[in-house]
Amino acid sequence: MDIILLGPPGAGKGTQASRLEDEHGMVQLSTGDMLRAAVKAGTEVGLKAKALMDAGELVPDEVVSGIIGDKLDDLGAGASVIFDGYPRTAAQAVALDEILANRDRALDHVVELEVDEDALVERIVGRFTCGNCGEGYHDTFKQPAKADVCDACGASQFKRRPDDNEETVRTRMKEYRAKTEPILPIYEARGIVKKVDGMGSMDDVSNAIESALSLD
Ligand code: AMP
Repeated sequence: MDIILLGPPGAGKGTQASRLEDEHGMVQLSTGDMLRAAVKAGTEVGLKAKALMDAGELVPDEVVSGIIGDKLDDLGAGASVIFDGYPRTAAQAVALDEILANRDRALDHVVELEVDEDALVERIVGRFTCGNCGEGYHDTFKQPAKADVCDACGASQFKRRPDDNEETVRTRMKEYRAKTEPILPIYEARGIVKKVDGMGSMDDVSNAIESALSLD
């Protein structure tokens, strides 16, 4: 089963994708994570992407579609994939159809996380993760039980994404509304869009996604 998780920045796509990985053995393909890894490694893709990411603008379509195709080839035919943060433009949606068809794959579902945009800015600007294990935290909603110590692994180094500041978040939201939201009708016309309320607790959202996908 191949699915897209669609929703604005901070809608919880990454959190829900990693839950689907843990609970259902699916594989999360996050173009944002791949680009951040490329920036960190200083590759050619990373060098091209960095300034755009820091500004909250989109990286060129052919760059992200190229890395998605490569990742699918690495994974092989057996994996069930969650596309997280891709496609983000009409051109990427067209490219994804081609990438999948060339590998005898097809999209089964598009899960749209419906969220309140004003609440998202607060969600994003306060979030941080453990620098060691990646456990997610939030200034207001989820502080570590013991100050400055990760609940999951005991490490005491935390990090914040450089693009999680208010100004960049507003640009990312604008990009979403202008370029990503307009691709929904492509999938609605195919009858594969499932709308899920993304404003509940993480567990409620997970349960709603599982039932939308008919997963046990
Ligand atoms: P994300 O982690 O999904 O919020 O992505 C972080 C940043 O990476 C975005 O603001 C874009 O600059 C870039 N990015 C990630 N995925 C894509 C994509 N599919 N198309 C273009 N840019 C992307």
